[in-house]
Amino acid sequence: MLTDYHLHLRPDGHGSEVADYHTPANVERYRNVAEERGIAELGVSEHVYRFVQALEVWRHPFWETHARDDLDQYCAFVREQTDLRLGIEADFVPGAEDRMANLLEARDFDYVVGSVHFMRDGAVDMDDYSVWDSSRTRSAEEVWTRYFEAIGEAARSGLFDIAAHPDLVKIWGPTHPQRTPEGDPRRYYEPAVEGIAEAGIAVEMSTAGLRKPAGELYPARAFLEMCVDAGVPVALSSDAHRPQDVGADYDRALAALDDVGVRELCVFEGRIRRLEPIGATRSASEAPQR
Ligand SMILES: [Zn+2]
Ligand SMILES: [Zn+2]
Repeated sequence: MLTDYHLHLRPDGHGSEVADYHTPANVERYRNVAEERGIAELGVSEHVYRFVQALEVWRHPFWETHARDDLDQYCAFVREQTDLRLGIEADFVPGAEDRMANLLEARDFDYVVGSVHFMRDGAVDMDDYSVWDSSRTRSAEEVWTRYFEAIGEAARSGLFDIAAHPDLVKIWGPTHPQRTPEGDPRRYYEPAVEGIAEAGIAVEMSTAGLRKPAGELYPARAFLEMCVDAGVPVALSSDAHRPQDVGADYDRALAALDDVGVRELCVFEGRIRRLEPIGATRSASEAPQR
């Protein structure tokens, strides 16, 4: 089986209306691309900050400008009008664990993708509110150290099933070389991998990094190897925000998994995880003629 669990039906940023994207016709576009690429298992995981209910958890100004949709309408749409697994991409907000738990536990998600996009108020992957702003003067060592510690804490919070894009902090890649510390990155990875392993959650293999300045899969090979050595299972996703990116670059993700001996992928239902052997589903048109 192949999966794509970290999908967004609507684009990030302003200027889109949920009513235009949370439609059976749009889901059909995602399904069609998935079918062409042999991906049988799809789930949607919209950003939690898109929903007004998220403001009960955190009131970051970025969230306040984006929290417009209704979470229960989203859940009802996915359950009643689609055949997608129901997920959500929830941020780890230190200090707000109980409030996030309340939001998540009140809905019947199949899985929760846990992300660290912010360190305190500073954004890791956006120019707005950037943690890298000169006014905040952070060294790459400090940001990376804190980032991977936060991934470990997020895992241990018990809120999430999947640690999303676990080395997102590398997103800027060669465009901002001063944002990558020198030397072997494994010392940064350690607390993240330890937290993920101890919490018993899955790590995400995401092809989104290939579409960002980093130009690499999330996570880096060394991070993935450390996860595999620690017995952490893998969830495979594209983090697509449009149909054509469903399963994007899966050839590269599958080669990277094969390289480190990963033969199974996580499948989720009702927040219960099982493992299935990796393999594309052949579409009817490809099936051998009898
Ligand atoms: Zn994300
Ligand atoms: Zn995402």
